[in-house]
Amino acid sequence: MIVKMSSSPVRGRFAPTPSGRLHLGNAATALLAWLQVRAAGGTMILRMEDLDGPRCKPGTADLVMEEMVWLGLDWDEGPDVGGPYGPYEQSARLALYEAALERLRAGGFVYPCYCSRAELQAIASAPHGLASEGGAYDGRCRRLSPAERRAKEALKTPSVRFALPDRSFSFVDGVAGPLTFGPGAGGDFVVKRADGIVGYQLAVVVDDIAMGVTDVFRGWDLLDSTPRQLALYEAFGERPPRFAHGPLLLGPDGSRLSKRHGSVAVSSLREQGVRPERLTGWLAWLTGLTDKPEPMTPPELIPLWNPERIIREAVRLPADWTDRLKAN
Ligand code: GLU
Repeated sequence: MIVKMSSSPVRGRFAPTPSGRLHLGNAATALLAWLQVRAAGGTMILRMEDLDGPRCKPGTADLVMEEMVWLGLDWDEGPDVGGPYGPYEQSARLALYEAALERLRAGGFVYPCYCSRAELQAIASAPHGLASEGGAYDGRCRRLSPAERRAKEALKTPSVRFALPDRSFSFVDGVAGPLTFGPGAGGDFVVKRADGIVGYQLAVVVDDIAMGVTDVFRGWDLLDSTPRQLALYEAFGERPPRFAHGPLLLGPDGSRLSKRHGSVAVSSLREQGVRPERLTGWLAWLTGLTDKPEPMTPPELIPLWNPERIIREAVRLPADWTDRLKAN
């Protein structure tokens, strides 16, 4: 499908991985992605990225949706309501990813990689990887001769890697502004794992194309995935969406948000009596959108949407954040 960017109305999405319940970080991203779409009068898509079966427990997607509804966020297309581009669970879209992989193979964009876990670990300790994925792959299987490939083929099921073009990738991020990555930008990446699971980068791009997504708003941790995704759009001959990356939330000590920072799960704040509008108003303030942490529902925040106000990079929670949220 060809996506015409200039004339099409805004279609945005929130694409959680239902490996766990929503935490404050996901809630902030969901709120900002929703605001961007609603402020533009666009269509909001909810897509469950449940490809890694063992990590995604049954029932979690329903809980995530219930928490989003509690926060005051809705969607026009999604696993429960359906829509013209369904199904909206990645686990039900495997045939599409296989067809896309076939296109990449036919175009010579991918190659089999036989590297063992130990080899990859050794490579990963080298610098220049992606923050989100560790060290860059050095491309050693890209250079195998046909005979070497045949010999390895007999011993191991390969993963499939995308051969990243050896040049830089530039784009204008809706929050961070103009950015350039590479050359190399994290190295050749896996589009299908040796265990058969389709890689995140490929599934996201295939789905965003197929679902006509014009605007991607997601967490800062995926910023450095963008050059890889731009390379995939190019390989498929499709025009990429606009990308924007909202801040990661960190604990007061500056480390990644986790249970030891208190009740970071939306469900536990809810159980403790925090009102949803207090949480959404507070997240809007924390991410830079508003001046005061006043209770505000998502619809009340729509007129205040302004991506230029959103804080670039990470935000630390204030030390007294739980007390503030529970204040009434
Ligand atoms: N499923 C990804 C995550 O939960 C987000 C994918 C995206 O927004 O591109 O981190």
